[in-house]
Amino acid sequence: MSEQESKNTAGLLMVVSAPSGAGKTSVCRRVMERDPDIHFSVSVTTRAPRPGELEGRDYHFVSQKTFREMIDRGEFVEWVENYGNFYGTSKTMMDAFLERGVDLLLDIEPRGAGEIKKRYPRAVFVFILPPSLSELRERLAKRGEPEDVLKRRLDASLGEIKEALWYDYIVVNEKLEEAVERFRAIYLAEKSRRERCTGTIELFLMNSSKVQKPSFRRKPESISD
Ligand code: 5GP
Repeated sequence: MSEQESKNTAGLLMVVSAPSGAGKTSVCRRVMERDPDIHFSVSVTTRAPRPGELEGRDYHFVSQKTFREMIDRGEFVEWVENYGNFYGTSKTMMDAFLERGVDLLLDIEPRGAGEIKKRYPRAVFVFILPPSLSELRERLAKRGEPEDVLKRRLDASLGEIKEALWYDYIVVNEKLEEAVERFRAIYLAEKSRRERCTGTIELFLMNSSKVQKPSFRRKPESISD
């Protein structure tokens, strides 16, 4: 267990994965809009920004050379190569947030999530599923890519879905709003786990020892219920 995780004051680490076409980005965005206490962990990548993506908000975009130097310096808690692009999570950034008690949302694929599970056993793992195979196919087909690319994506998605078996929670994204509510319910329940609240309980007990204990007096005879 990492040093940060062993402290009760550490932030909650939520790791979310999904195959492409499951709507993970939309779910995560809405969850963070509603719960500003959850901070998005910005990964480092060598892929080019897509239209609308911003440096520092969606990713830190770096060259392959910079990424390799970061690997050599041991800056990543996990990293993967995905279709020729590299993606990695900065350990310093992650630990700095968790140590300050900030809750973090990591949007990473299952291989990276597996690495996080080894190093941060208290992290919570959520897998977002599309409602069905036919719906997944339909969503991917909307991208208008050639049939062979579509088939490759579908196979890759099915491979990732197998990994869902070891995650803690599954959220089926049929209706976006319902998926967002389910995700938030998981977050709030995890925040309320007794082991994450021992600091609060201790505070009560510490303060109560300073307050004089009330004495239990007998009810005067003249007062009846
Ligand atoms: P995209 O290029 O579509 O933004 O992301 C492709 C995949 O890489 C997604 O499944 C996303 O969750 C994953 N990903 C993004 N950042 C990281 C990271 O830091 N580590 C790992 N392992 N996967 C990541």
